[in-house]
Amino acid sequence: MAAASIRLFNTMTMQKETLVPAVPGKLGVYVCGPTVYSYIHIGNARTFTSFDVVVRYLRYRGFDVKYVRNYTDVDDKIIKAAQETGEQPVELAARFVKLFQEDARALHLREPDVSPKVSDHLAEIISIIQKLVEKGVAYESQGDVYFSVRRYPEYAKLSKRNLDDLCAGERVQPGEQKHEPLDFALWKAAKPGEPAWDSPWGKGRPGWHIECSAMSARYLGETFDIHGGALDLIFPHHENEIAQSEAASGKTFARYWMHCGFLDLEGAKMSKSLGNVVRLRDALEKVDAEALRFFFLSTHYRHPLGFTDKGLADAEQRMEYFYETLRKVDERVGGKDFGKGALHGEPGKFLTEFESQMDDDFNTAGALGALSGLFALMNELTDKPPVKDKALVGRTLQALREDVRKVSAVLGLFEDEPAQWLLRRRDRAVKERGIDVARVEQLLQARADARKAKNFAEADRVRDELKGLGVEIMDTAGGTVWKVAAPSA
Ligand SMILES: [Zn+2]
Repeated sequence: MAAASIRLFNTMTMQKETLVPAVPGKLGVYVCGPTVYSYIHIGNARTFTSFDVVVRYLRYRGFDVKYVRNYTDVDDKIIKAAQETGEQPVELAARFVKLFQEDARALHLREPDVSPKVSDHLAEIISIIQKLVEKGVAYESQGDVYFSVRRYPEYAKLSKRNLDDLCAGERVQPGEQKHEPLDFALWKAAKPGEPAWDSPWGKGRPGWHIECSAMSARYLGETFDIHGGALDLIFPHHENEIAQSEAASGKTFARYWMHCGFLDLEGAKMSKSLGNVVRLRDALEKVDAEALRFFFLSTHYRHPLGFTDKGLADAEQRMEYFYETLRKVDERVGGKDFGKGALHGEPGKFLTEFESQMDDDFNTAGALGALSGLFALMNELTDKPPVKDKALVGRTLQALREDVRKVSAVLGLFEDEPAQWLLRRRDRAVKERGIDVARVEQLLQARADARKAKNFAEADRVRDELKGLGVEIMDTAGGTVWKVAAPSA
């Protein structure tokens, strides 16, 4: 593939920049992963889907990507949750890592190359903290270790905040051992009943931010290409990562910063702490995984996205249209040989447009628009071909189908067999609408019998009766299929 020119919006410079890897052809990508104390909510799912597609596309464009996404398995929230369930914090975290992996698979997220856990990287974490203490940018205070924000003049360069503004109104809270309100914990002295590890400062555990500095350096080096996460991680988490890493190494930490916008739940900011919890797992019981991905991808990753029932229903209907088209095309041309020769029109233009949209800061919304044109042409060529040459039409349909496969590998859509996807969708709709499947099948048989007997009036009457039950039938090359009709608006 020709060298791609991908432009991405870098939160550090607040500009779209051409992506130039530090090492030609290779890219290191680090994304802040889940804190495993509960099921992931649907806002996290949007973030992880966005970066899943970013990584898939970078690979599609020929980059050799190393994708690292961590698990935060040592954290106050985990300790608190474990106190409630009576588990050990480590056990609870391990349980939710497994549940996260199940959810991630269900959402067609590809497994990162490395998924490191904090509890496996204490040596790396302690070594960075030691370096920071030696350099005088961190200090020990009664068994805690803090990063001294005043000793790192570039602090808050990602969020472009002013240090004095940040200090205003901040106070050292009772029980904190820090010298200045903005200083943040790198290491916390052990409290009774909490998981603790040995360190030069006594028993304790790492603060939250240091883990990403330690694990990204371990797997991607002190400087790497792309760091991603949700928008709400910019401050303080990513600022603190930058401060720790750059103060320790003296080098640039991440070369490009990418941040994914919020998912609004009917206008409310998605956040576990605010209580607006919609678990991904619950959502996937109501909506198809690919339809959920389609819904996420239909808005640019940096923009806010409103989570509504209607938005999801529309996405599912759109996916049904895509899969019905693919079923039809597969029945028509799948596995057939139409010989070599010309194609009708310019079928390749849709993939070219898809790529140019994705090259422009991973504009999945525009990319899906290109896909609409592709599917419209597929439908035209199967339903009302504008030319008589069947081989020409067949070859063109096969070329378009092949482009759908390429797009599928990038977006994580259309990864199913069309017939199976449509059947699953129908089963769910049947349940929701309380349709009597045995009765439907009886009527389908009655219609088939009537048609065989050339009693077309009766066949039409049965079709209407089915319609009254909310069932729509289609006579395809592979026989009669039925689906649950879209609810009338
Ligand atoms: Zn992080």
